[in-house]
Amino acid sequence: MTDARTNQRINGRRLWDSLMEMAAIGATPKGGVRRLALGPVDKLGRDRFAALCAEAGLTMRVDSMGNMFARRPGRDPARLPVLMGSHLDSQPSGGKFDGALGVMAGLEVMRSLRDLGITTEAPVELVNWTDEEGSRFGKSLMGSGVWSGVYGQAETEALADLDGQTVGASLDAIGYRGPEPARPFPADAYFELHIEQGPVLEAEGKQIGIVTGGQAQVWYDAVAIGQDSHAGTTPPEARKDALVCAARVIDLVDRMMRARGELGRGTVGQLVVVPNSRNVVPGEVRFSVEFRHPDAAEIERLAVQFPREAGFIARDCGIELHLTELFRIGAQPFDPACVDLVRQAAARLGYSAREIVSGAGHDAIYVAQHVPAAMIFTPCKDGLSHNEAESIEPSEAEAGAQVLFEAVVARANRPL
Ligand SMILES: [Zn+2]
Repeated sequence: MTDARTNQRINGRRLWDSLMEMAAIGATPKGGVRRLALGPVDKLGRDRFAALCAEAGLTMRVDSMGNMFARRPGRDPARLPVLMGSHLDSQPSGGKFDGALGVMAGLEVMRSLRDLGITTEAPVELVNWTDEEGSRFGKSLMGSGVWSGVYGQAETEALADLDGQTVGASLDAIGYRGPEPARPFPADAYFELHIEQGPVLEAEGKQIGIVTGGQAQVWYDAVAIGQDSHAGTTPPEARKDALVCAARVIDLVDRMMRARGELGRGTVGQLVVVPNSRNVVPGEVRFSVEFRHPDAAEIERLAVQFPREAGFIARDCGIELHLTELFRIGAQPFDPACVDLVRQAAARLGYSAREIVSGAGHDAIYVAQHVPAAMIFTPCKDGLSHNEAESIEPSEAEAGAQVLFEAVVARANRPL
């Protein structure tokens, strides 16, 4: 049984063709994709995905958040399903593979099971999670977040995009509000294949990342309040320049990150200057702050040190600084048995591999709160993602999908 599995190959060519077919839906002139969650292009992608699942003999369920579950029955109806999947939505100028690789590789696993005449003991389900990216409604990991109980359905449905259209209205508009409640159902395992979105695997020439878990994170909204005044007449002593204060806090974020060495992550990615006029000393600046680290204890320390030191800076600047902690999550380790199936699959197939902690958020990290989970990473060119130039090789996609296939089949056939 174990030996035979290595001779069962997925169809890498068919996988690549499916990836390119999905990439054509919402294709951008620079070679990326734009499939904003729950918009008309996302609907096209979902409809195509549903049709491909039907062709592969799968039965589709949709839950109240628009999460899609395509099921292949197992031999033993009493067994819990083994889940695999990712997301089909993209950033506004996103790449072809972020999310789509995990979903289309899952489809390829299903097609290969059919072609190879394999009936697994447990059912297998392929998931397309709604709105992983969070770029339209401002909440990432939305579908898996509601499913796992991190976010409430009602509060999430009320979120609106910049045009005022809510999540709830968008679900109805594209016809993807399903009858099932979005909440955890019993499942045996969840596997997610994803591009690394970072440079480590490529730099080390590794084909497979064995993801052991996600990083701890803390996110803030910051508002610095000073006073608008005339740029030409306000002398240094009289200035209450909110942007100078923000700049010093941004430097603090960078210093606190660098003090933690190679594993440190600290970012200010959003900045709004009010009134944003070249001859007004800025009276208000709103900005985002986030820190990540694989060690939850470092995040706990940062959550104490950062507000304190930022407060000292603001006081020196004569500025009011309001920090709102948006959320703090501990490091989410993946299930050791599921991680081991990924490790064994990579070894059996002869792929070079290394263990890695996920730097980005992924649906698997929320799913892992309820279901034993693991992830597989594949390299991406120059570590580039959330960019239209995001690029992978067909052989890399095939290797990742083959590891996914092996891990899912091993789990679905495991002795109970
Ligand atoms: Zn993604």
